[in-house]
Amino acid sequence: MKNVVIVTGGGRGIGAATAKRLAASGYAVCVNYRSDADSAAKVVTEITQEGGTAFPFKADVSVEAEVEALFDAVEARYGSVTHLVNNAGVLFTQMPLEEMSVERFNRVLTTNVTSCFLCCRAFLKRAQAARAIVNVSSAAARTGSPFEYVDYAASKGAMDTLTKGLSLEVAAKGIRVNAVRPGFIYTDMHADGGEPGRVDRLAAQIPLQRGGTAEEVANAIMWLLSDDASYVTGSFIDLAGGK
Ligand code: NAP
Repeated sequence: MKNVVIVTGGGRGIGAATAKRLAASGYAVCVNYRSDADSAAKVVTEITQEGGTAFPFKADVSVEAEVEALFDAVEARYGSVTHLVNNAGVLFTQMPLEEMSVERFNRVLTTNVTSCFLCCRAFLKRAQAARAIVNVSSAAARTGSPFEYVDYAASKGAMDTLTKGLSLEVAAKGIRVNAVRPGFIYTDMHADGGEPGRVDRLAAQIPLQRGGTAEEVANAIMWLLSDDASYVTGSFIDLAGGK
């Protein structure tokens, strides 16, 4: 059976690197995006030019009906989904918690956690041959991100707990659920937090003395999805240069 994967938020950053990595390994890939159609199309073009199989699909994965439409589209194109990468995530301008609005807090939780719940549920309900899920959490789940984005860190903590609990619910069916916890990765997300150069500012405090790349995270996601990780579930790989 062909491996069919949905990568949420696959149009740029870690999601794009993961989509390309998986396609190069033979997966048929759905590159999900929310708003940036051009970037998602570019990822798909790169994949197909290399001989891979992929298509882009617009869906806000924090909205139940759009998640159902996403799975419908992938099934119609490639058949049952076998693997899922819950990568879509947002953060907003750095600030202390006492300055945050409830609208922002709820938006972060809905985008980062509800989306993960909705996609996991759709995957498990529909996939005849569900094999593995990787959730893209963050080192922020461990650090709490004080004075930057406690809301974001809390959402990633929730994602870790969801990963653990769900892994135990589905282990007896042979479905594996794991997470990666990146930190300090060179992507455009830091600009959304108001500090495009954040990774370079923090590099000296990272034991490996540098930021990480999206490809380094993609490699770990790829491994966790693969049969090489067949005895790994409910586990977390930290990719934060030793921090
Ligand atoms: P990024 O460059 O900002 O990319 C995020 C992607 O998520 C975008 O392509 C965006 O799509 C998509 N997205 C956002 N909300 C969405 C929604 N509701 N539905 C569908 N797609 C949505 O971020 P990144 O740095 O690659 O981060 C990817 C994941 O890694 C995130 O979960 C992030 O929390 C996590 N992470 C990143 C770092 C880091 O240092 N970069 C560290 C730890 C964890 P559109 O552009 O189409 O809106």
